[in-house]
Amino acid sequence: MNAFVIDAFGFARQQDSREGKIAIADMARMLEDCADDSGEISWQLQGTVHALDVPQLNLHVKGTVQLMCQRCLQPFAFEVDSHSSLMLAKNDEHADEIDALLDDESLDVIVASHAFNIFELIEDEALLALPLSPRHETCPDSSVMDLANDTKELPFAALTRLKQ
Ligand SMILES: [Zn+2]
Repeated sequence: MNAFVIDAFGFARQQDSREGKIAIADMARMLEDCADDSGEISWQLQGTVHALDVPQLNLHVKGTVQLMCQRCLQPFAFEVDSHSSLMLAKNDEHADEIDALLDDESLDVIVASHAFNIFELIEDEALLALPLSPRHETCPDSSVMDLANDTKELPFAALTRLKQ
């Protein structure tokens, strides 16, 4: 049996826990967003039951991946570290009911099953942790671009000064 397939409801009710690691190279969708296939995602899944008697999974994903900076087009290391609390619904209708009942934005409601693939869950969580527009805080080789900007701006700055 696939190690990533669990009975989500039983897992939660029994307050089971499981953890592991997945290489970036094994996650097709992550790989698309990463600069290379190095690194891995450590994950921890903890089952519990919410106060409203709704089965719940707490997921934590953590790891370092290489992303491509959109400003300077150089790869940089990005730290993924994300938690989520997932309330388990039996179907879409049930999910709406739980959503209305909880009224809590920090909890996500998902439709789970007795043969639920947590691999996708882990990859989704890691994907959501990635920035929409990845870039260095300070690009290591921005001197070339700064220089280009300076030469473009200089005539305008000079002109402004002349008018004053
Ligand atoms: Zn950069």
